[in-house]
Amino acid sequence: MLFSTEQKLLKIRKGELTAAENVKGFLDVIRKKNKQINAILHINNNAVAEAEAVDKKIKAGKAGKLAGLAIAVKSNISVTGMPITCASKTLENYYGTFDADAVAAIKREDGIIIGMANMDEFACGSSGESSAFGNTDNPAAQGRIPGGSSSGAAAAVAAGLCDLAIGSDTGGSIRNPASHCGVIGVKPSYGRVSRYGLVDLSMSLDQIGPLANDVYGVALLTEAIAGKSENDGTTIAKDVPKYRQLLKTAKKVKIGLSKEFEAMCSDKRIYKMVQESADKFTTATKSAIKQIKLPYVDLAIQTYYPLVYVEFFSGTRKFDGRKYGRKIEDSCGEEVLRRIFGGKEISKAEYHGTYYRKALKAKKLIAEGFEKAFKEVDVIISPTTPMLPHKLGTKITDPRVMYAYDAFTIPANLAGICAGVVPAGKIDGIPVGLQVMAPAFKEELLLQVMAEIEKQSL
Ligand code: GLN
Repeated sequence: MLFSTEQKLLKIRKGELTAAENVKGFLDVIRKKNKQINAILHINNNAVAEAEAVDKKIKAGKAGKLAGLAIAVKSNISVTGMPITCASKTLENYYGTFDADAVAAIKREDGIIIGMANMDEFACGSSGESSAFGNTDNPAAQGRIPGGSSSGAAAAVAAGLCDLAIGSDTGGSIRNPASHCGVIGVKPSYGRVSRYGLVDLSMSLDQIGPLANDVYGVALLTEAIAGKSENDGTTIAKDVPKYRQLLKTAKKVKIGLSKEFEAMCSDKRIYKMVQESADKFTTATKSAIKQIKLPYVDLAIQTYYPLVYVEFFSGTRKFDGRKYGRKIEDSCGEEVLRRIFGGKEISKAEYHGTYYRKALKAKKLIAEGFEKAFKEVDVIISPTTPMLPHKLGTKITDPRVMYAYDAFTIPANLAGICAGVVPAGKIDGIPVGLQVMAPAFKEELLLQVMAEIEKQSL
């Protein structure tokens, strides 16, 4: 990367680089590289004009905190006038009629939407291969999956097609591709960022969050999009700290490592790398490591899917071909169909209590496990995925193999806490991200720890 996000912002503010030049530069790179990577599905044709308007505001000293930065948006987040396809044939011709709260916040702060990013269809997937518009390649490990479902957002950041991106994370969809592509991603606490304008996968778990090439970038974007919104009743009225300014004040913390996570990591090299990063961190900051118990996290996947299937089934009933695009059952891919049929089945009255209710109980137990653990430690560190990303085109016939990618990321969604991923190193030349988890609404602590880990790996 040429500049860190902070340096880039300064350059733009000082007029050494105009917002229009910044945007044009990215459009050039997109033209050159996107054909092969397939991270961006649609370019914003007004991006240069919008950047010129921002340049005027900068000159007048009236620009917002994202002034001139180019931001890609996952295709399940509404932007006025842009195709919100969810990477599905179902919504192929659907254009956004309003801005999602997160998008409105970006525009208010003078960020420029550069384009819409590829993704797994309706955010169902962990590999970026289920898009109806072709898979995304991994710019950091060509020929391998970039991870998903925010595949295009992570790949766009990694390939230098934009400064920052926003994605959505229901069970790992920001963190998993961030790990595979060697970038940084954050899933904010449930209720920290408004979901208004996000096409639901599972409304009780979804969060919109940032991706960037540095921790400063995700801190900046979180700061811009977080906060209470009247449009989303699950958002909480808590002040949004100035996350960026707090990054430099890394402090001594107590880090938790869990044996349960260690046992779940099928590629032992990944766990070793995580342990080494944790050790380095503790030596540099005089922090302490503690082994903690996280009961039931090994059941996270089995807990997550019944909830997602049922909520997704319910959320997709509006795609009946009358108001929005085509009828979903007639136009979607295999994984989306599996969830619709599965969700329909387990929503039936005779199964009441068998699946959904049980899953809700297990969700509560997992959340309580984290609450207890956070009485003993400040943050928890784990791998992001239990294995390295597979080669594109590998036939995976058992969906459980794909579901397994999210074993470490799903618990944070079930518990409603915040979690982020920062690169820890490479194995066989493939990026491996380390996951940090912090209590709900402690994003400042999460970002501080991530910034410190970033510093050590530079
Ligand atoms: N891979 C998980 C799933 O398919 C997570 C998706 C997400 O976070 N949007 O449901």
